[in-house]
Amino acid sequence: MPQVAPCTVSAHRISDMIETERDIMLLGGGHSHVEVIRRLGQLGLGSRITLVSPGKHAPYSGMLPGYIAGIYGFEDFHIDLQALCARFGVTFQETVASHIDPDRRVVRLADGSDLSYRQLSIDIGSTPSLPSGITGGISVKPIASFTDRLSCLDRLIGDGNLLKLVVVGQGVAGVEVAFALRQRFAGRGVQITLVGRSTEPLRERSFLARRLVLRQMKRAGIAHQGSFDVVGFANGELVSRDGRRLGADEVIWTTSSGSQGFLRDSGLLLDAGGFIRVGASLRSLSHPDVFAAGDVASLVDPRPKAGVFAVRQGPILAENILRSLRGQPLLAYRPQRSWLVLISLPENQAIADKWGLAVSGRWVARWKDRIDRRFMQRYASGDQSAR
Ligand SMILES: Cc1cc2nc3c(=O)[nH]c(=O)nc-3n(C[C@H](O)[C@H](O)[C@H](O)COP(=O)(O)OP(=O)(O)OC[C@H]3O[C@@H](n4cnc5c(N)ncnc54)[C@H](O)[C@@H]3O)c2cc1C
Repeated sequence: MPQVAPCTVSAHRISDMIETERDIMLLGGGHSHVEVIRRLGQLGLGSRITLVSPGKHAPYSGMLPGYIAGIYGFEDFHIDLQALCARFGVTFQETVASHIDPDRRVVRLADGSDLSYRQLSIDIGSTPSLPSGITGGISVKPIASFTDRLSCLDRLIGDGNLLKLVVVGQGVAGVEVAFALRQRFAGRGVQITLVGRSTEPLRERSFLARRLVLRQMKRAGIAHQGSFDVVGFANGELVSRDGRRLGADEVIWTTSSGSQGFLRDSGLLLDAGGFIRVGASLRSLSHPDVFAAGDVASLVDPRPKAGVFAVRQGPILAENILRSLRGQPLLAYRPQRSWLVLISLPENQAIADKWGLAVSGRWVARWKDRIDRRFMQRYASGDQSAR
């Protein structure tokens, strides 16, 4: 994912702020919130912030394929949220939110307790969206617990129980996961097939990127079935809407994102998919003391659900939380029209795709690795850089 957009957080003095003790609540340790913690923390405002997160570690999806392929370890692609919070004096609460009452400015936590806030920001990502009626298979999301599910897959393949793996979803995530599984299970007799609704993978990317991916899939021995709209998975078979059947010992779902169910009862203005509608400033269109960023935010000028946008929203979100508390005009977040997509391939190669042009090679993989590691370094303990 590209680097954080330059954005200067004004040098607020704590005395400038409206004083209440812990008035900034961050729900979810997603890609935008880690930057909010870092930026507000650097301004000495950490003691006013509470982060609610179900886990101490936040995964960075850009490096997940490298983890599956065995290139990175767990710590390489996880931000230690608890340590990040400790560094800046932020209160870390390891739990989930189960309800939001934005009229009373209260968030209910899993244990039934309520936390009140003055300013709430929501960056809780998205959930897998499986075809209706299907519960089986392994979902890549939530990524935080995918590492456990991957270990189960390792055991089943180790026992010789699984030979046919089918990856469902032909976006960047599906393609990368298929290549990474190929690399992980190389030489173990595992067949990998990529399927999805569109005729070919990466429908939303350039023609050149699609060609490069199809060529690499052929070389890696990954089978492909396009126009395969999954309607059933039972008894070792996937069934498509047009009646085709495909043998599948296990299915990996990388299908498009859904929203978290509890938002529907919150009273926040949502879009048809259940995502929080925000204005250009990332502020809720219904409740001015609520912000949302990343996958959970539904922008006026919509973009795909991708980490690149969550990362770019971080600095604007940090600034706007401050401005909102001070009653100042907010900044506008303007999503890029074109964005760089880096797609990991086997054998330490990657594709770079932007402006309808695509190139591939080992140098692209090295470039991606540098960008990803630099992102992670920003949130590692000991990093003192200002941006
Ligand atoms: C395999 C794969 C590869 C991908 N590769 C790329 C890529 O290369 N480039 C790219 O741009 N995008 C990529 N994506 C998409 C990317 O993962 C998401 O768009 C991105 O993670 C969204 O960031 P976020 O900040 O919205 O949420 P997340 O990063 O998902 O973070 C949300 C956080 O909120 C927490 N949370 C969830 N529910 C609650 C709750 N109720 N209360 C409190 N906390 C909660 C979660 O534990 C999580 O830590 C990839 C996705 C996958 C699956």
